[in-house]
This record gives sequence, structure tokens and C-alpha cells, in this order.
Amino acid sequence: MSDLPLPTMEPVLSRSAPLEMRPQEFREIGYELVNTLADFLGSMSERRSAHDATPAGIRTLLGDGSLPEHGTGAASLIGEAAQLLIDHSLLNGHPRFMGYITSSPAPIGALADLLAAVVNPNVGAWTLSPMATEIERQTVRWIAEMVGYPADAGGLLVSGGNMANFVGVLAARRAKADWDVRTGGLRSSTAGKLLIYTSCETHTWVEKAADLFGFGTSAIRWIPTDTSLRMNVTELRSQLETDLESGNQPFMVVGTAGSVSTGAIDPLPAIAEICQEYNLWFHVDGAYGAFAAVLPDAPDDLKGLALADSLALDPHKWLYSPLEAGCALVRDAGALEDTFNFHPTYYHFDGQDEDPPINFHSYGMQNSRGFRALKVWLGLRQAGRAGYARMISDDIFFSRELHRRIAGHPEFEAFTQELSISTFRYVPVNLATTGTDREEYLNQLNKDLLSVLQKTGDVFVSNAVIGGAFVLRACIVNFRTAMSDIDMIPEIIAATGRELDAQRRPVRC
Ligand SMILES: *Cc1c(COP(=O)(O)O)cnc(C)c1O
Repeated sequence: MSDLPLPTMEPVLSRSAPLEMRPQEFREIGYELVNTLADFLGSMSERRSAHDATPAGIRTLLGDGSLPEHGTGAASLIGEAAQLLIDHSLLNGHPRFMGYITSSPAPIGALADLLAAVVNPNVGAWTLSPMATEIERQTVRWIAEMVGYPADAGGLLVSGGNMANFVGVLAARRAKADWDVRTGGLRSSTAGKLLIYTSCETHTWVEKAADLFGFGTSAIRWIPTDTSLRMNVTELRSQLETDLESGNQPFMVVGTAGSVSTGAIDPLPAIAEICQEYNLWFHVDGAYGAFAAVLPDAPDDLKGLALADSLALDPHKWLYSPLEAGCALVRDAGALEDTFNFHPTYYHFDGQDEDPPINFHSYGMQNSRGFRALKVWLGLRQAGRAGYARMISDDIFFSRELHRRIAGHPEFEAFTQELSISTFRYVPVNLATTGTDREEYLNQLNKDLLSVLQKTGDVFVSNAVIGGAFVLRACIVNFRTAMSDIDMIPEIIAATGRELDAQRRPVRC
């Protein structure tokens, strides 16, 4: 016999569920949290962006208890969670946070997430989320418009750049395989191997996609880059010829609009031409750089993203949306439905009129979908096109300024500057000027320098490897960065570098 308490006969009217919160309680706890967060935002620049955290240290703070048997009051839980997160997180909203490609999150996006969670529309189907679906539809259209992509393209919000790129690959596979991939799967005796062409600088999502979607990573043809780390289209053409001669089936080329290491932009118009000529799907990974196409003086190579069959963008990068928000656009909206739509018997979502509703479950990989679009939509409305152009061009300006100062500093060697990414390394003034020992020493010194910088948090950078050199990499996708921050950064990094170098090479008297 079970010893669980039997439900009493008292009806729902007097039910007090452990998770319920009365409006007054919600109000009080909510105001308290908003006060804490407003203080946090106000004190961001006086905080350190990073801490010397360890997994063991963090676990100690959480305590090693098992799943609580009984609940705790919401007010103390929310207060405690806020303190834990504020005191022990990497603060990517800090004005001198320039690591990876992670933006400062727009506060309106945080409020949007709260609103979305409370109303909780399921944006998988129109009838489950009439207003939210139409807001997502408008958001997708605005994003397309902003970067010069056809505004009648299909598209949807996803969790990030990886997922947006996956959508492009799946749409390409469906559209370009010369058999029915959906029913037949990838193994077909009638065709050679389906091949993907991309440059060596492409983000690692492409390997994940090749593996997950059944092509295998050997289906990726890595096209070498030129000295600016852009895809070499002559090499692309000759690789295509070789593969066609041996009976394989090239089906897509991936160009990058702003590479993750250095911000390099592939020659997109030239790649588009080759795709046209060989009947290949042209996908552009613009997760980082695509939004810079909003700038009136954007380079033609970047504007070439308008020629793509599909485009991946990341609102949680240069639209400063809080995580997570990616966006996939596909020129032919029908290609998206061809790829993702099935009609299960238990769905009855199709309208009967001539204005059929959009059901986003049929556009992508998710079924139930949260309302990611709200934070993006509100950001676009708060700043407008002009506001975004201002913020993005300021980020680029500050990156160039930083690079200029680094290049003029006696203890740095400047490498690349593209979009808002600057790469450089620390080089002690009295170091021998040649030799492989020198390179090894500099690589180790800069690795150690990065580790120290990432723990102290006065400025947070990450790294790249360029031609074998381990370099520091500052990527500014941060509307809080100001000129005063740029002023401070070279000396913060040089002082730390000097200290580390002195520990390793004590100067002899
Ligand atoms: C960030 C990035 C990705 C991956 O995007 P996530 O949002 O991290 O999934 C892919 N490609 C490029 C060029 C990127 O900058």
C-alpha cells in the first residue's frame, strides 16, 4: 500500500499549489529583484568582469546537499540566486569585456524575457501564440531588411549561430540532393558523395553539421585562404572541378561574413557567382558580421550576403540581445517548409482562408518554441535602424582605435583588425629579434598572459592563432565600451605582460 497522502476531497478552489504565487507576493519579490538588478547594472563598470573561480569553489557555495525534500520561500530563493549569479559570473556586460563574440546584453531584452516568460506563448503554432507569432514574423522581416536581404524571405529565430547555420545546411540538402532525402535518407546508390565547400577559417559548426546530418566530416572540402584569411575562390573552383570529375556531388558552399578568429569577410559576390554557375546552394554564416551590413559604408563583399540562398545571423551578438537568439533566413520560404514540415494527425493548425497562418514548428527543428523574438523586436524598436548603425559603427571605431594604439606601443606587435576584432601580442622590449626560441617563448608568454587577464578581469580578451602565433584578441560587441576604456587597455595588458616576463627572464645585473 502506498503511504502517499490521499488527495483530500477539498476542491481546486482552495488549492494552494507549492508553486503558486499570489499577485502581491509576485509584486514584492519582483520589485526587490528589479532593485537588485538596477544596482547591478549601475555598478557594472566598478566590478571586475571576471573572477578566479574554480569548479570546486563554486560547488562549495552551492552546498553539496541532495534534492530538497521540501520547498523554501520564493523571496529568499530569488534574493540568494541573484547574489550568487551577480558575484560569481563572468560579466559580459562590463565595458571592458571583449572576449569571444559575446555582447553586452540590452536591458530591454531582459525585461522582454520576463514578459515573455509570464505570458508564455508557445510560438510553435499560430493558434497557440497569435500575437507572438506575428511579432516573430515581423522581427524576421526587419532583420532581413536591416542587412539588405529580401524581406519576403522565410526565416525564424533559433537559439544561436550554430542552429541557424544548421537550418541552412538542412535546407540546402533538401533542395540540392537529386533524390528525395526525406524518405530515402542520405545513402543513395544513384549519386556520388554530397560535398560541402568552405574555408579553413569557418567556425566549427560546419564539422558538427557534417557529422550530425549524415554527410560525415570527410564531406567537407576545406578551401585555403589568402593572406587576409579570406576564401581563395580560384582554389574553390579547381576543387569543384576535381570533385565533379571524380563523380561526387558538390551541393553547397559556405561563405563567412565575419570570421570568428579575425572578422575576415569572404569574397561573397565572387562565391555567389560560382554557386550560380555550378548550381550550388550558397549559404552565408553571418553570425557575427552580418549586422554590420546595416552600415552605409559596408564593404561590397559583406553586402554580397544578399545573394545567399540562406543566411545565419546572431541577434545575441551584434543586436545585443541577451542569450539566446539566433536567426536563420532562407531566400525561398517554401524551401524551409519543404525541409521541416510534417503533418501529424494531432495538429489542426492550418487556417482555411487565403491568409494562412504561419506555424513556426514547420519552419525549423523545434516543436514547442519560446518567445525569443520579443527581446529582439523590442531592441530593434528601442534603437531603430539608425541606433543600431550608431552602436555597430562605434564598436568598429573603438576596435580600430585600440588597434592603432597597440600598433604604436613599443611592447606590442599588432596582427589583424577587421570589423570589431583586433589581434595582437605582447612582446617584451629587450627580447632577441629572431629565432624559433623566440616564437616559442612569445607563444607561452601570451598564453600565460591571457590566463592572468581572464582571471583578474580588468579587461577580458580571448585569443586566436594566426600563422602559428598565439595572439590576444579583443572583439568589441559592446555598447558600453567607451574611449576611456580603450585608453586604459594597452597599459593594463602591457603591465601584466611585463610582470610575467620578469618572472620568467629575470634581468641579470
Ligand atoms: C558565434 C559564431 C557561431 C556560433 O554561434 P552561436 O551563437 O555560438 O551558436 C558561428 N559562426 C560564427 C562566424 C560565429 O561568430
